[in-house]
Amino acid sequence: MIPALTPTYNRAPLAFERGEGAWLYTTDGRRFLDFAAGVATCSIGHAHPHMVSELTGQISRVMHVSNLFQIPQATRLAERLVANSFADSVFFCNSGAEANEGMVKFARRAQALSGHPERTEIICMDGAFHGRTLAMLSATGNPKYLEGFGTPAPGFVHVPFNDIAALKAAITPQTAAIMLEPIQGESGIKVASLEFLKAVRALCDETGVLLALDEVQSGVGRTGRLFAHEWAGITPDVMSAAKGLGGGFPIGAVLATEAVAQGMTAGTHGSTFGGNPLACTAANAVLDILLAPGFLEQVRARAALLETLLDALVQEAPSVFSERRGLGLLIGLRCVLPVGTVQAAAQEAGLLCVTAGDNVLRLVPPLTISEDECREAVSRLKKAVQALTDTQMNKTLEPTL
Ligand SMILES: *Cc1c(COP(=O)(O)O)cnc(C)c1O
Repeated sequence: MIPALTPTYNRAPLAFERGEGAWLYTTDGRRFLDFAAGVATCSIGHAHPHMVSELTGQISRVMHVSNLFQIPQATRLAERLVANSFADSVFFCNSGAEANEGMVKFARRAQALSGHPERTEIICMDGAFHGRTLAMLSATGNPKYLEGFGTPAPGFVHVPFNDIAALKAAITPQTAAIMLEPIQGESGIKVASLEFLKAVRALCDETGVLLALDEVQSGVGRTGRLFAHEWAGITPDVMSAAKGLGGGFPIGAVLATEAVAQGMTAGTHGSTFGGNPLACTAANAVLDILLAPGFLEQVRARAALLETLLDALVQEAPSVFSERRGLGLLIGLRCVLPVGTVQAAAQEAGLLCVTAGDNVLRLVPPLTISEDECREAVSRLKKAVQALTDTQMNKTLEPTL
């Protein structure tokens, strides 16, 4: 019989009763160091005192009023994002996929209003992940996710990642935008080279094609800059954000330049829940922490520490790990053993991680992680490696009958 909860996930048999910072506690009293962080979402850890007081205060006043009325929390959040990014205007929604849908609508409408209604096509990258709505499945392009869901939505084509020649060749008079993740998270923490990002920006400038960045996972401090594209010294025309923005509360955002956003007049797009007082209070609480002087420097320092420790671990354990990848606190360890086995061993050692494509173990701790917690995570990974190599040894030593 089918479970009451539709079984679309392979869930670990763990249920957490509470969290504190980078730690999660099960109902039976076990404690885990959380390098999954709700899939790169709990950016300021669990039960952060500032988040708790802001959210409880807001809940006790008003949670939701709809976009029929002024929402000062949303105005403030948009103003802060504008002040700290390339964007001139921000639209709020509830998830990453929805932010990407909005981003495509912004781009197509900007092209249409600038006299190019024929420019509707979006060039995406092989290995992309843009979400699970019908159009974003098409933008993602992974046949595994499309199977059984009918004809893929038209208007999305794919080129190899990090290949500027292929991208150039794919541009046609119908191209509206190039859409990409500065770091492909889901498909294995594959980092776009800074030269590639710069070349894509230049190509867009030459051709009038818009640059649409999906920073749902790489954004909001994850790489040690507020947004990952800052590392390349470029700016997009339109960008999506979500995961880390609400610190665990669902919120998504489309950030755009004035040129792109100006077509989005009353009635052109909307969301009932999008940007409600509670969600925007959560995101404002996250920004209170992230925008505090020195915070992003601290994220970069933690990332540097983890890089050193993890590089040493990869060297020590070539039968388990083959490579470290990523940027900031968006870290991938490519596994030699099946990544599911490594993830399970880490969990057994008290460390929660996420898997990604390309046999990669994804480490995405809260951005508030301490130095000691970074060291503790690597020491737990070492324990996992020890357990895995012991098992390998036992297998080789097993007598063959
Ligand atoms: C997670 C993710 C999405 C989808 O976000 P949802 O909130 O699950 O809809 C889209 N793009 C990227 C890069 C992501 O990592």
